[in-house]
Amino acid sequence: MVTRRPNLVIVISIVLASAILAIAIWLLAQMHEDALRRAQDSVSNVSLLVERDVSRNLEIYDLSLRAVIEGLKQPGVLNLPPKIRQMVLFDGSSSAKDLGSILVIDATGNIVFDSQASPPRRVNLADRDYFQVQRDSPNVGLYISHPFTPKVSSSNVSIALSRRISQPDGSFGGVVVGTMRLTYFQRLFAGMNLGAGGSMALMLTDGTMLMRRPYDPKIIGRSLTGTSNYLRFLQQPSGNFFGTAAIDGVERWYAFRHIDMYPLILDVALSSRDIYMEWRRRAWIIGTLIAALDITIIALAVLFSQQLRQRRAAEEELRVLARTDGLTGLNNRRTFEEHAEEEWHRAQRNAWPLSMLLIDVDSFKGFNDLYGHSAGDDALVDVARCIGQSVRRPGDTAARYGGEEFAVLLPDTDEAGATRIAEQIRSAIQALGLHHVANSHHVLTVSIGIACTKGQTFATSRALVNAADEALYEAKDAGRNCVLCYPVAARAERRSVVGLPAR
Ligand code: GH3
Ligand code: MG
Ligand code: MG
Repeated sequence: MVTRRPNLVIVISIVLASAILAIAIWLLAQMHEDALRRAQDSVSNVSLLVERDVSRNLEIYDLSLRAVIEGLKQPGVLNLPPKIRQMVLFDGSSSAKDLGSILVIDATGNIVFDSQASPPRRVNLADRDYFQVQRDSPNVGLYISHPFTPKVSSSNVSIALSRRISQPDGSFGGVVVGTMRLTYFQRLFAGMNLGAGGSMALMLTDGTMLMRRPYDPKIIGRSLTGTSNYLRFLQQPSGNFFGTAAIDGVERWYAFRHIDMYPLILDVALSSRDIYMEWRRRAWIIGTLIAALDITIIALAVLFSQQLRQRRAAEEELRVLARTDGLTGLNNRRTFEEHAEEEWHRAQRNAWPLSMLLIDVDSFKGFNDLYGHSAGDDALVDVARCIGQSVRRPGDTAARYGGEEFAVLLPDTDEAGATRIAEQIRSAIQALGLHHVANSHHVLTVSIGIACTKGQTFATSRALVNAADEALYEAKDAGRNCVLCYPVAARAERRSVVGLPAR
């Protein structure tokens, strides 16, 4: 089937190429999804890890602050010798790396006890937020301050955790405060593997940035209120989304979570570029290979279909050649006989008349002798053209029957119609005016014999041809350049009709 329809080869190849392309696109889409899923797992693991570390450290630190408050309530503690009092009030936690001093501040903001100095440093801290918030509202619990540069110790930017000291009557008695250097978070963040474009940030729930990776000291303390990412952080306790950082404009996949019990939000993000870097590399390779494969398939199909088309054209040419006469372009004898057989049966079935013309060029041997064989060939071509032009109805068949003989088959045509056409052919050939001095009319002429099935009984198509041949013979005998129908009247009678002397 394919060999008969060259275009089908191209259609099949396009369908095949499209199928391969569709599979490749589906695979790449899966790989794209996988890349995101891996990134989601990765950021979510990192954020969990960091949250655990931060909340555990804050909890331990908070326990230290509570211990100080409990210690202050114990009778006699205030009267202990300073060294022992320091040991009772402040456990070892405040000396841990990145933790600053724990201070007990009185209701006026002055330091009363100081974990790192005895006697305490003389600084008033009434202007600090961790002091004012506890002073102004009794039920804050643990407060985490905005970042600040400590007045008392190193100049490392820190945050403070404060708890209120209440007098037995509930009134404000001061605060216990512990400071924590932000370098703790910086180091914690640096230990996580996030790729070149990754980021992490820890902020207060009010949007104040405490630490960010990549680290930039100018960002610490900056408020993120109003940025689209921050607004999304506020909507849920934890979540994931694609967002663009207001700070550096990089698009990232974010995982954020509010750190349990503390007013802190942590976000961990991988840049889209990093997430899809490997995928993009593979997509290029797969895409190029698939494109090359598809182009090859289609190109081969086009080539193949061209070959098929050429083969079909050659076959068609051979078929036509096998059915045509090489000199005149009319049907050849074999084709004519096939048609005659078919039309004969059709006429028999339908009781239609079928007419046969046999045409023979007059004194053609003499023409060849006079003008040469090649001129004879040319004359045959002209005669064939005249015949072809007179036989135009679909179903009519003209053929070169052999040598200088031609035949015409006229289905559904009676004797009168056939005679009209034969006469037309005869006069047209005479009108060609091809000089033939040896002919009685001095131009090339033909004689035509007609046989028609109407009113006659012929056993076979062959018998019809023979009848036409007989009429042709009689036409020759009658002096040539004339048309006669089978059966022909008695010769003597006919001769008188055409005006010849009876022989
Ligand atoms: P008539 O039919 O009038 O009785 O005379 P005629 O000379 O035509 O008779 P005949 O059938 O004996 O001669 C036919 C001639 O036609 C013989 C041959 O030289 C010539 N002839 C046949 N086929 C071809 C052809 O293909 N080319 C040329 N040039 N001549 C052909
Ligand atoms: Mg002949
Ligand atoms: Mg002849």
